[in-house]
Amino acid sequence: QIFMPLNFLGFVYREIRGSLANIDKLFDLLSQTPAIKDAEDATELTCANPTLRFNNVHFAYNKNRQILNGLSFDVPPGSKVAVVGESGAGKSTLMKLLFRFYEPQQGNITVDGKDIASLTQQSLRSHIGIVPQDTVLFNTTLLENIRYGNPDASDEDIRHVIKLAHLEAFVESLPEKLDTTVGERGLKLSGGEKQRVSIARALLKGAPIMIFDEATSSLDSSSERAILAALRDAAKGHTSLVIAHRLSTIVDADKILVLKSGTIVEEGTHTYLLEQGGEYATLWQAQQREDEASPL
Ligand code: ATP
Repeated sequence: QIFMPLNFLGFVYREIRGSLANIDKLFDLLSQTPAIKDAEDATELTCANPTLRFNNVHFAYNKNRQILNGLSFDVPPGSKVAVVGESGAGKSTLMKLLFRFYEPQQGNITVDGKDIASLTQQSLRSHIGIVPQDTVLFNTTLLENIRYGNPDASDEDIRHVIKLAHLEAFVESLPEKLDTTVGERGLKLSGGEKQRVSIARALLKGAPIMIFDEATSSLDSSSERAILAALRDAAKGHTSLVIAHRLSTIVDADKILVLKSGTIVEEGTHTYLLEQGGEYATLWQAQQREDEASPL
């Protein structure tokens, strides 16, 4: 019951934080975002190995600015697809559409060949594990924080996801191990540790689709390595979509999509795209320069 609201907190927080810069936009947001209702004949999604597909998706939050312009791509079962692009290109918007916070004005999104508009939102969301940009940790033990992903999980399930999220050594280093209190009044976790707790929590849900909305904050190189390993292991066996901010975390993706002006301008593997010397190569070089300019 608590898992989805918990994960949506990050979204809502970002929407509001972004909108506070412009109070008119906040009121627009509050008045323009009607809750989307299930279709009367909505069906339940049940699939273990789905393909995720965006078909010619057009989307604008408001009429005067188109965000997505006929976007099409698919994420085959068990593969890892990453979306990159400049800030504001519309990467996080893809995730909001997949969760049906908003509806495309044209085109559709399918999971396992079924238009998500024809599915119950509850069953759709139960098939998606999400690692949001901002992870909310509660003032309780680390164990309980991970368990939010699935309150019925066994101790063995929890040990398994801790391993996949590369949190074992971290847990061992804590005075009270998994019983250590974290959150505002407890142990403060670093950005990288929080992200890995978030990965463990999302994995515990056992959903076949995993969405990683990477945090933008830069990490020191050992945290970066730990996240990289956790992302790699967590994506295994899942249909995974990574909204990437740090390109170093997606070099192993099966396919990288470069989003620009609401459409995909390049796609391929990291090596292929670097060889092409186009948009991706430019983004990659810019990030390398940034990293050199501000080594952590
Ligand atoms: P970043 O890398 O900075 O996270 P992004 O590629 O994920 O950016 P989105 O968050 O998808 O970009 O936003 C795409 C555009 O839509 C941005 O210009 C943003 O300001 C705008 N936008 C996002 N949410 C809303 C909203 N609720 N209402 C109006 N405009 C919005």
